[in-house]
Amino acid sequence: MERTLAIIKPDAVERGLAGKILDRIEDNRLKIVALKMLHLSKGEAEGFYKVHSERPFFSSLTKYMSTSPVIVAVLNGEDAIKKWRDLMGATNPKDAAAGTIRKEFAIDIEKNSVHGSDSHESASFEIQYFFSNIEIF
Ligand code: GDP
Repeated sequence: MERTLAIIKPDAVERGLAGKILDRIEDNRLKIVALKMLHLSKGEAEGFYKVHSERPFFSSLTKYMSTSPVIVAVLNGEDAIKKWRDLMGATNPKDAAAGTIRKEFAIDIEKNSVHGSDSHESASFEIQYFFSNIEIF
């Protein structure tokens, strides 16, 4: 079993897509073992995305991620990191495969509705960024 961090980003929460996205998670044998809604400050978004601090879109990305609430969740399951990224689809919805969350729901390459950890290292950093051990079941 493996854990990964999922975020339902501001564009998706604002448009009332959280329930549909959580359904897809549970329908694909990923178990939600922690869940909360929070409104990130710009600084908290910068800390979360610090690996991207040199990228040209860092300022725009962290501003967007702090515009309105997000839903963060820890998912548990076999091959959870890859499984969740496969369900999400490619970063740019134009490149995302049919049937993926980003293909169906994302607005553009930045407002792309969902986040998922891309490795074991990032999953463990990202999970502890939002949750303490006693909040994960
Ligand atoms: P992910 O792992 O698929 O989320 O993609 P990355 O780790 O490469 O990028 C993190 C996030 O930054 C993406 O999910 C987008 O929200 C945003 N992003 C990535 N590339 C771009 C870009 O070229 N322009 C803008 N404005 N945002 C981007």
